[in-house]
Amino acid sequence: MTWKLTRSELDNQNLLLNESLLSLGNGYLGVRGNFEEGYKSTYNSIRGTYINAFHDETEINYGEKLHAFPEIQQKILNVIDAQTINIYLDDEQFSLFEGEILHLERNLHMDTGYSERIVHWKSAKGKEVKIHFKRLISFVTKELFAIEVKIVPVNNIKLVKIVSIVEGKVSNFVDKNDPRVASGHATRLRISEVRQHESFSIVKNITYATKLEVACVTSSELNIVEYEYVSKITDSSVEETYLCNGNEPIQFTKYNVYTDTLRHGKDIVDEALAIHQQLEDISFENLLLIQRDYLDHYWHNADVKISGEDSLQEGIRFNLFQLLQSVGKEQQSNISAKGLSGEGYEGHYFWDTEIYIFPVFLMTNPEMAKNLLIQRYSILESARVRAKEMGHKKGALFPWRTITGPESSAFFPAGTAQYHISADIAYSYIQYYLVTKDEEFLKYYMAELLFETARLWIDAGHMKEGLFRIDCVTGPDEYTCIVNNNYYTNVMAKHNLLWAAKLYNLLKEDDSKLLNQLGDKLNLSEQEVSEWIDAGEKMYLPYDEKYKINAQDDSFLQKDRWDLANTPKEKFPLLLNYHPLTLYRYQVCKQADTVLAHFLLEDEQDLETMNNSYNYYEQITTHDSSLSSCIFSAMASKLGDKAKAYEYFRKTARLDLDNTHGNTKDGLHMANMGGTWLAIVYGFAGLRVKESGLSLAPVLPNNWNSLEFHLLYQNRTVNIKIERRTVTYSLIEGDSLTFSHMGELIYLEFGKIVEKAL
Ligand code: BGC
Repeated sequence: MTWKLTRSELDNQNLLLNESLLSLGNGYLGVRGNFEEGYKSTYNSIRGTYINAFHDETEINYGEKLHAFPEIQQKILNVIDAQTINIYLDDEQFSLFEGEILHLERNLHMDTGYSERIVHWKSAKGKEVKIHFKRLISFVTKELFAIEVKIVPVNNIKLVKIVSIVEGKVSNFVDKNDPRVASGHATRLRISEVRQHESFSIVKNITYATKLEVACVTSSELNIVEYEYVSKITDSSVEETYLCNGNEPIQFTKYNVYTDTLRHGKDIVDEALAIHQQLEDISFENLLLIQRDYLDHYWHNADVKISGEDSLQEGIRFNLFQLLQSVGKEQQSNISAKGLSGEGYEGHYFWDTEIYIFPVFLMTNPEMAKNLLIQRYSILESARVRAKEMGHKKGALFPWRTITGPESSAFFPAGTAQYHISADIAYSYIQYYLVTKDEEFLKYYMAELLFETARLWIDAGHMKEGLFRIDCVTGPDEYTCIVNNNYYTNVMAKHNLLWAAKLYNLLKEDDSKLLNQLGDKLNLSEQEVSEWIDAGEKMYLPYDEKYKINAQDDSFLQKDRWDLANTPKEKFPLLLNYHPLTLYRYQVCKQADTVLAHFLLEDEQDLETMNNSYNYYEQITTHDSSLSSCIFSAMASKLGDKAKAYEYFRKTARLDLDNTHGNTKDGLHMANMGGTWLAIVYGFAGLRVKESGLSLAPVLPNNWNSLEFHLLYQNRTVNIKIERRTVTYSLIEGDSLTFSHMGELIYLEFGKIVEKAL
């Protein structure tokens, strides 16, 4: 049951929700779970097909535009729609909103990587038919989206008509009242070509501003020999009609290949045709087998098994499956806040990647993790330009939200001011290095990125009365903006600065030639490196004597506390009901901030301070952001409160499946999905990766019988199984390894099992 998500509701709200939940993707291409034949006009739908990073740019219109406000905004586009297949039985059109449904089942198969819709339907005039749709977006041929439909007429149907459409006239979804969704610029694609070439239909679009092009080249196949075929070309679409005899089963397959000028060079139609040629002898059945192979491999490393609670197991697998479906696997793409399942946050990449999602891939699929880092490296130049625009003499300031580099955030207090994203990216580079010991990566990507981000902190902060301070930034909590000395930002900047200096010294010993080249390129001096050390060591980390906690920032604890207990339920999330300034005046947090800093850099404080801080901030955190509960869960595990850790975990594992934030229709919450895994692996199992090595401190929630998963660490695969009384570690791949279990050093050899009492 836990490998298959089944959803069959047909009411307005659930249809929209299920479009996101049943979406398919492979990191390059994504298609929402719409019905091939569409809905009745009274029902809403966000019909969507997306290509990761395929975007246009629109002007941002400010009432008052001040210096260095971004001028343009990037936006992922809904591209050519190849989903449509209309089916007619004699003179009646198949629609789930007419006639009678005798059986309906929609499934998403997470172990094998396809979705299906199984229907037994009776028309108003009594014609009965069984229809079985299967859809697949290939993980192996990333451009391919295939649909197979089997139509089995049950009673006297004379004629089955199939109308398959590829439509180039598409637009994006907008909602003026929700800041998390685009408010304008729905149509950004112009149709540049519609034609047929031999047995292929070709639709090509070009964006208004970026002039990126996308093509969809489609071929179709029928399993029967005798049918009539008519094709019609309009200004925007190719419509192919197949007239078949109604007394035999029909199998129709549609192979859509998408190519675009970001990845495929100029001749995207030729490229798509060539891909079709490679696929020529591969049947839909074979595609399913290839997909299964790919997923077997993925799940071998990524699966997390819990015994004792199927609904949570389903949540975990769903989240891990959707992360795989959304993560960009090539240098041009990263993972957007909603993956490829919807248009919320306009396809932008945020710090969500580094802090919430990257660790999952790092510990289960380091190659995919590395790609995310390299994509960030590829926009380092934009980050340098942005730092200059923001008045810094040196360094790199990464954009709060972007696709290919330029800052796309129009609201700077909760956008550009979140300077911490630069330290977050540096943090993920450091984690990657600690986990993989990839020396090449260190030399060719990491050193430069850490040097440039370290420079940013020197320029953004200042030394005063012996302490290094960073003023006027926003930390992760977006209900508290533009503050001095946000604890999170400062401690992450400290980590960034000291690691940059460490790398410099390491390279000086190991590869001075490379260091000299890099030094020349960046015009870097030893003097700067001493400044990094000085600033890092003297970084001011706010601490409050009265409460014995880390203050979120210099002014936070001076503010009045928001009265959460007496805030009506319908006023949440607060951001949709109060002006930002109202929120900024109070102690109220949208999400984990200081608690997150404690989670990421636990050696910076003692346990008591972390415990006090947790209790303090928990009282004033709304978790209005989906990036919050998972961190409160993981930290509760660390602080020894298993029951609380479990309660917070429950809120993350099924957040989208149960639509608890009410906006899953706009796309899935990718950071939370990564957070589910963090709450298990970093939370319950207590994983940490530091310079001293790998350590674990497992606990098991009371409701579970066991928890089991794999970790990939320095070319080894370790299996970890936590049961009520014991934990067993076994090395299933790679050389022997020493790690810490509850502070005790364990030596693990290949093929051997070490068992420890809990
Ligand atoms: C959160 C941010 C997050 C963004 C995208 C916002 O609601 O406050 O931390 O980066 O959503 O997921």
